[in-house]
Amino acid sequence: MSAARRALPLAVERLSTELDARAARAELGEPAAGEAIRCLACAHRCKLKPGQHGLCGVRFNRDGELYAPFGYVSRRYVRPVETNTIFHVHPGALALTFGMYGCDLRCPYCHNWYLSQALREETTEGPTAMTPEALVAEAIEAGAEVVCAAYNEPLIAAEWVRAIFTEARKHGLTTAIITDGNSTAEALEHVRPVTDVVRIDLKALDDKSYRTLGGRIEPVLETLARAHAMGFWVEVVTLVVPGLNDDVHGLRELASALVRLDPDLPWHLNAAQPRYRHEAPPPSTEFLLSVAGAAYIRGLRHVYVGNVPAASALAHTRCPECHSVAVRRMDFRTTGNRLDQGRCPECATPLAGLWDARHAAHRRAQRGQLSPSVEEAPKIALGME
Ligand code: SF4
Repeated sequence: MSAARRALPLAVERLSTELDARAARAELGEPAAGEAIRCLACAHRCKLKPGQHGLCGVRFNRDGELYAPFGYVSRRYVRPVETNTIFHVHPGALALTFGMYGCDLRCPYCHNWYLSQALREETTEGPTAMTPEALVAEAIEAGAEVVCAAYNEPLIAAEWVRAIFTEARKHGLTTAIITDGNSTAEALEHVRPVTDVVRIDLKALDDKSYRTLGGRIEPVLETLARAHAMGFWVEVVTLVVPGLNDDVHGLRELASALVRLDPDLPWHLNAAQPRYRHEAPPPSTEFLLSVAGAAYIRGLRHVYVGNVPAASALAHTRCPECHSVAVRRMDFRTTGNRLDQGRCPECATPLAGLWDARHAAHRRAQRGQLSPSVEEAPKIALGME
């Protein structure tokens, strides 16, 4: 799949030209017929002839070579790590989160559409030149313990993310990717040596719905299983969008599929709010509580409900054995952490997560997941109980 460059609005054309000028030679590609190149950074696997851009709008073939985003960021913020819907990684720590431009999907409810869809829609935000050293220095200066790649799809700039995370790791920072999961084994392998956390959005429950977003469900399920098997710490977010995925049976099946993969996987059910091209009201609190309850009954140990003030008690991390609150949160921020070296403060049950660096190593060793090959990734399938 590939996209010949069509006529673009002036602002988009200007941004595209500027980003192309900053791009660097990419590693995640392979020769195709003639001077074409197959991009391996996402599951679209675009075949690009010279002069063509991929569906993401930011990777392209220049004179027979593949180029990818490098050396700039769009936005960056320092905020609590929980604002990225990552709950089992250093609770209360600050994270420097950076974004780029472009996306391999087209979700009509995208919170960051002015970045993710910036190569399709008019946007006013230009890039800021950056080096890995400067960005990591900013993180350290701000007291951040985590560096996150987010806002648009990070793995379409996997080479740049790896460069930043390599620098972050040198300084002992934890690294996290927030991805739509429409990825490849090659992209995950590329970032694996320097990445601790993969937070995956599982957006729809069937292939038909995924295609309305510009993707397919199979690669996302494969990425989820593969990332887990490769030893990343994985958390899953399902933004519940009325009309797209608010099917109670489908969500229950998804909960069962996650349990089969690992009952310790945190699953976040966040309520979609009207934004961008999506106007439907959020799902009801009762609906989300019912799905969360079903997920607990099916065996998931950590289920969270977000963006719903009336369900704020489901933002806390509870011990799966004695149900004591171990980590208390409000509005995607930690307000109390009673974990004792990753264990329940009441009954000493170990809770799954990268609670601190020592526990991250301990957890990986426990799971025997130091660096399995991607071929070892199990299949995950919905509706196959
Ligand atoms: S990242 Fe995906 S959409 Fe972009 S060029 Fe590569 S395969 Fe195509």
